[in-house]
Amino acid sequence: MEDVKGVLARHKFTFKKQYGQNFLTDANLLAAIVRDAGVQSDGAVLEIGAGAGALTRALSVAAGRVLAYEIDVSLRPVLAETLSGCANTEVVFGDILRADMQALGRRLGEYRVVANLPYYVTTPVVMRFLEEAPGCRGITVMVQEEVARRFCAQPGSPDYGAVTAAIALRGEARIMRRVPREMFFPRPNVDSAVVRVEFCEGRIPVKSAAAYRAVVRCAFANRRKTLENNMIRAFRLLREEARALLQAAGIADMTRGEMLSPTELARLADMLTDRKILQ
Ligand code: SAM
Repeated sequence: MEDVKGVLARHKFTFKKQYGQNFLTDANLLAAIVRDAGVQSDGAVLEIGAGAGALTRALSVAAGRVLAYEIDVSLRPVLAETLSGCANTEVVFGDILRADMQALGRRLGEYRVVANLPYYVTTPVVMRFLEEAPGCRGITVMVQEEVARRFCAQPGSPDYGAVTAAIALRGEARIMRRVPREMFFPRPNVDSAVVRVEFCEGRIPVKSAAAYRAVVRCAFANRRKTLENNMIRAFRLLREEARALLQAAGIADMTRGEMLSPTELARLADMLTDRKILQ
């Protein structure tokens, strides 16, 4: 059978750098990613960035139903061909960052996200699904190795940051496999990894997810500053107020935000919610 490269060449497809079009072709790798994502035969999958449809096709074989988003309409004839016969699969041409998340939830019910996206879009997409995606049970994404380490980092490590803390509130991130650059066509300049974030509701109990997000933003706003200084600025507090809050949360005044575990960030967020500093 003709491979993805052949189909793209026949359609005279021109790769668009701005859309991060580095496609996968290896059937074993595609099958492994489908396994990594925990796709169930009766489950729904939202694939983001269908590209030439190689992963979409593998997903359509394994899942009950696939909805794929693709921003580049010039891939329409390619996808019509590569996905022919995939009766359980539908492609929407549009930008996932503009998708109506409530409507996606209504359309798919419970679903899993699988995405191999341009690296600059991945973090905003992951953040969006973490924050406001009814029905979403987990996300499996291909990311630059460095970003994969950030997703799964431990508090206090150089890779630990706002995105790690945001993920930790909703679920658990795990690096499933490394993917060398040679596996993509055309070849990018970096190696990648597949990360799976499994959502577990109530993993870290917090009174207000919005307050937690505000505390996370504040904690990592300026990594060289102490949490106390970042809080004074972010929440317009007097030094004594910030110090008293930290003390009540059992956090030493010279602590920097990056030293706090997600559980400690949640405790601080609850305290700020209780005192009506945050909602
Ligand atoms: N899934 C395919 C694969 O694994 O071979 C393609 C992956 S390629 C890295 C990323 C794809 O995402 C491209 O086809 C690109 O056009 C599409 N894309 C980029 N930004 C997007 C966005 N905001 N919404 C939907 N699709 C997007």
